Amino acid sequence: MMKTIGLIGGMSWESTVTYYQIINETVSRELGGLHSAKILMYSVDFAEIEECQSSGDWAKSAEILGAAALNLQKAGADFIVICTNTMHKVVPEISERINIPIMHIADATADALIAAEVKTAALLGTKYTMKQDFYKERLTARGINALIPDDNDVEIVNNVIYDELCRGIISPSSRDEYVRIIAGLKQRGAEGVILGCTEIGLLINADCSPLPVFDTTLIHAEKAALFSVGKRRCLNE
Ligand code: GLU
Repeated sequence: MMKTIGLIGGMSWESTVTYYQIINETVSRELGGLHSAKILMYSVDFAEIEECQSSGDWAKSAEILGAAALNLQKAGADFIVICTNTMHKVVPEISERINIPIMHIADATADALIAAEVKTAALLGTKYTMKQDFYKERLTARGINALIPDDNDVEIVNNVIYDELCRGIISPSSRDEYVRIIAGLKQRGAEGVILGCTEIGLLINADCSPLPVFDTTLIHAEKAALFSVGKRRCLNE
């Protein structure tokens, strides 16, 4: 029996589109015929979430996302996929409100890095994901060392996400900046780059990146689809 995936999307909707597409493509590839994914989606208003982030009111964001997760559970979701790296900061608070599991994006990414034998990885994402511990500590626990850019470049990477990518703006000059920053992290010893924000794949891919790319959106979405069709036996396989 195919499991129903509960997506919490809208953060931003630009990348939730990719989740929907990749999950369906993976299920179609695995099962063939007319098969498609069983998905329930709760898509939030990203402006409300961003306001919580910038004011530091993570408790309020946890309430909004916790309520979304509970609604998905009530509607019949078997497990939850949160379509953003940053908001995994409040996974512990969301988990307390539900009794179905959450497929953690950093764990899925760590699996992919380990499979590729990458021990030191550049991490690009929002300033919260890069500077705070909630994401990096999950990688460290699996033996992966995350390298982040210097403060000036953290600001550049972060601003491109909120001012451009989450608004559907794809700018060649921002791509050049990201490529420069990835090249710098390669010089510091990174063996691969984690696109640790679900919109970065709209800007950077393997063709332009100086390092092998680990796109968290693709990794997370594919893993969710494989779990839903029984090709992964547990959330952490
Ligand atoms: N989608 C982004 C991420 O993966 C940023 C948006 C957000 O702050 O949730 O972190």
